[in-house]
Amino acid sequence: MAHIYDTIILGGGPAGLSAALYAGRGKLDTLLIEKGSYGGQVATTYEVDNYPGADIGITGPELSDKMRKQAEAFGTKFMKTEVLSVDLSGKVKKVVTKAGEIEGKTVIIATGATPRTIGFKGEDDLRGRGVSYCATCDADFFTDLEIAVIGGGDSAIQEALYLTKFGSKVTIIHRRQGFRAAQYLVDKARANEKIEFLLDTVVEEAYEAGGVLSGLKVRNVLTGEVSDFKVDGVFVFVGYEPISALFKGQVDMNTFGEIRTDAYMRTNLPGVFAAGDIRETTIRQVITAAADGAVAAVSCEKYLEEE
Ligand code: NAP
Repeated sequence: MAHIYDTIILGGGPAGLSAALYAGRGKLDTLLIEKGSYGGQVATTYEVDNYPGADIGITGPELSDKMRKQAEAFGTKFMKTEVLSVDLSGKVKKVVTKAGEIEGKTVIIATGATPRTIGFKGEDDLRGRGVSYCATCDADFFTDLEIAVIGGGDSAIQEALYLTKFGSKVTIIHRRQGFRAAQYLVDKARANEKIEFLLDTVVEEAYEAGGVLSGLKVRNVLTGEVSDFKVDGVFVFVGYEPISALFKGQVDMNTFGEIRTDAYMRTNLPGVFAAGDIRETTIRQVITAAADGAVAAVSCEKYLEEE
């Protein structure tokens, strides 16, 4: 008979890794499946300065690595593969991966979110040739060059600050005057000599010279004026989209594709839980994702006991 895990965790970001730690400590026979790098979005974050207990200055990859090692220490198994489809309706949940079919009594969905694109002309074509969504991955290419960052949330401001270590100048292009980002980050950016702001402005087009990005066409939303903005690299940080396509039609979600749960991280399906950025929630931080993962794992344990 095929092996049936107590729980299968889909996704190895902070939510999945924390669920793995709690499930492991609860002695559940647990498998975590991740297709990319452990840590999810945190693995592409330069510095994490708001996770309690973590050393000041800890990098995203360092924190991710610590989380994975801690989860591993309590017996969770890890598998690097891609999930192709799921069938979560029955008592035994089926997860079809590139490495074969896996069965579990419960599933914790912690697949997180992926950077949102804007859709300006040239955005897609110049991806990897001047247009980027990950500062820690690509900042180095723009050493001593001029960089633009699009967005006004925590990600945009935090990554713009990081990019000042590389670029000769970093311009934050934001569509209005007010920022969604925490005030302390905005203050830090305003105090940074390398950072300039281009507000009430949207990007309409990215164009190239010699196969790489050379500038942007930007439009002032108040005056309608369109102008050229010479830049060597543009980093887009305008939020994230949930990675939930695999679960559509099975698990209840809102119009954005975020999975609905109750306070116990239970979805509409018995034995199926969701945790972290994939969930319909208001705050998306490492600590809230990790907390969700812990709750989901304990709820799994309870569900299995009752079954
Ligand atoms: P976010 O908070 O949703 O902010 C997205 C930003 O992009 C907003 O300023 C938004 O402008 C702008 N935007 C959205 N669509 C746009 C478009 N089509 N064109 C131009 N601009 C557009 O996203 P985030 O900064 O990625 O943060 C996501 C979550 O992670 C948040 O909960 C955040 O707190 C969290 N986070 C926290 C930290 C930290 O605590 N240090 C770091 C990173 C992320 P408007 O404001 O005008 O809507």
